[in-house]
Amino acid sequence: MNTFTEPLFQTPAAARLKIESIRWPNGPVCPHCGETIRWYATKKEGRWRCGNPECRKDDTVTTGTVMESSHIALNKWLLAFYLLSSSKKGISSHQLMRSLGVTYKSAWFLSHPIREAMADGGLLPPLGGEGKIVEADETYHGKRETKRVRSKYATPFTKKGKGGGAQKRQIVSLVERAGSIRSFHVAATDKYEVGKIVRKNVAKGSRLHTDESNLYIEVGKEFAAHETVNHSVKEYARDDINVNSAEGFFGLFKQGFNGIYQHCREKHLRRYLSEYDFRYNHRIALGVDDMGRTLAAVKGAEGKRLTYRQADSAVL
Ligand SMILES: [Zn+2]
Repeated sequence: MNTFTEPLFQTPAAARLKIESIRWPNGPVCPHCGETIRWYATKKEGRWRCGNPECRKDDTVTTGTVMESSHIALNKWLLAFYLLSSSKKGISSHQLMRSLGVTYKSAWFLSHPIREAMADGGLLPPLGGEGKIVEADETYHGKRETKRVRSKYATPFTKKGKGGGAQKRQIVSLVERAGSIRSFHVAATDKYEVGKIVRKNVAKGSRLHTDESNLYIEVGKEFAAHETVNHSVKEYARDDINVNSAEGFFGLFKQGFNGIYQHCREKHLRRYLSEYDFRYNHRIALGVDDMGRTLAAVKGAEGKRLTYRQADSAVL
């Protein structure tokens, strides 16, 4: 069967049933009072009434998600989730517009909340753990719009002694070997900012792998081991020590972003990173196929209702 002929992409009613089965595998949950036992359907399709006499509120499965109060049909939403989840390099708003038969503006307004749904929400347990390897690396991508934040902790780090990094947007990624990635857009790549990110997101029992950058020297001492490769003398791996997973991800991100999106406002960069992180973290090698990735993204929409001010649409 062709994926696009699946019922969830065909009609709003089928899409709603699918979303209900993802969010409420055991029946509706009232977002107001948490009631799970007493509820009943109202005459209006998809609308449920809470049976808790103290509450009695009406809700639908899209309450509290990015799809709430959207004028776009739910099956188009699911198709947009699918296209963003399954396109390895991303999908442009122009392509979404054509695939979904919506306006460019609608396509743009669909894609950003979906990226937000793909974001991990920052409540995850740390990467790595005893005996596990976590790579930390940084890259520079796209011209920065904001003034460079001068760090009092260190001079701006430039890779391999080359200048120019300071004028670009700075990205730090942490990736557990054969596991998940977390990418961050940082205002200043200095040992203080980078140290904070590493401390918060990597389990102390991990082996931390980095290049020879001075960004990681101090924070590295807090881990079971801090092992480095020396890129400046063209050493890219020694035994199992490398940052190849992080560098592979940077390559995919830059190739995809440059080919599909070309540029974005700096304030949106973190959302694009969420999109590429999400696909990496739900990749085929981890046993997730296109549909599984789509459903995971839909599940991620929970509690991430986003509204955009008009001002945002003026700077598409
Ligand atoms: Zn309730």
